[in-house]
Amino acid sequence: MKSRVAAFRGSKHFQLKHVTDYVIAAIAIPGTGSLSNAAIIDLGDTTIVVDTFLTLQAASDLKEAAIYLTGKPVSYVVNTHWHSDHISGNQVFLPEARIISTTASHEIMDTFSRQRLSQYKENIEQMKHSIDEQEVDLQQEQDEKLKQELTWDNASDREFVQALPHLVHTVPTITFDQQMVIHGRNGCVQLLTFGGGHTQSDVIVYIPDEKLVVTGDLVLSKHHPVLTNANPQEWLHILEQIEQLGIETIVPGHGNICSLRELREVKDYISDILVLVAEAMQNKQPIDSLEVPDKYQGWSFTTYFKSNLTKVQTLISALEDDQ
Ligand SMILES: [Zn+2]
Repeated sequence: MKSRVAAFRGSKHFQLKHVTDYVIAAIAIPGTGSLSNAAIIDLGDTTIVVDTFLTLQAASDLKEAAIYLTGKPVSYVVNTHWHSDHISGNQVFLPEARIISTTASHEIMDTFSRQRLSQYKENIEQMKHSIDEQEVDLQQEQDEKLKQELTWDNASDREFVQALPHLVHTVPTITFDQQMVIHGRNGCVQLLTFGGGHTQSDVIVYIPDEKLVVTGDLVLSKHHPVLTNANPQEWLHILEQIEQLGIETIVPGHGNICSLRELREVKDYISDILVLVAEAMQNKQPIDSLEVPDKYQGWSFTTYFKSNLTKVQTLISALEDDQ
């Protein structure tokens, strides 16, 4: 498999990484139409792809890589959660593949995501205009690291808008509520959900024989976790359960292949955000004045720091209102 990975023609959207003989990660190249990571799993007689990127161009390259590496069509696609950078390329894998998610993620994709995509399609010209404006605005950014990240975001947004007219909203046709196992000649993969942490419902793809898990956005490596749709307490609880699986290798939703160390960093981050916001609220200090703690200064997705603070403040305020 290593030599197949090396011989792949390559893609501007991702870099293939040989993780084990049966698991190849497609690690996103910043500023392209991938945006998130994906994985290709070769069960010998069955090929599984986990997540399908933000654009059709990126997804087509992923499909080509999967067929090239395994010599077989893709049988199953797993959507770890409903965010568009993990599902937009679904249509590329039809009709050969069946798409799988949890029942709860399917429900959101079939309602909210479907409506949002049709709204996007009606507003393509406006979206192009605001991407042009953002491109001009970001030139003023003095912080070089932030400027680089904004430039990448802008380029990914542009590729998404270019793909929009061709996007056909494609929802999973197989759903499950707790776990599902796919068996193949090389072993099996377990699709597990412990509920919702990063979103209302998150799946991990666990391969016990390889001591490996593909986590979607429950674990990011050296990126600010995204709390926009999160339940932080549940997220921490889910990460504790993943820790119990005895894994050694993690293919995260964003960032490089990592281990339990990065999973624990995500736990620390979420805990730190909860404390920072609670303390600021107690001291009547505006959360806008909070700076990224030193240990997270080098992480990507910097712009999510402020939105994470706001999200947690909203959650705490809602809890207080209930009491
Ligand atoms: Zn996500």
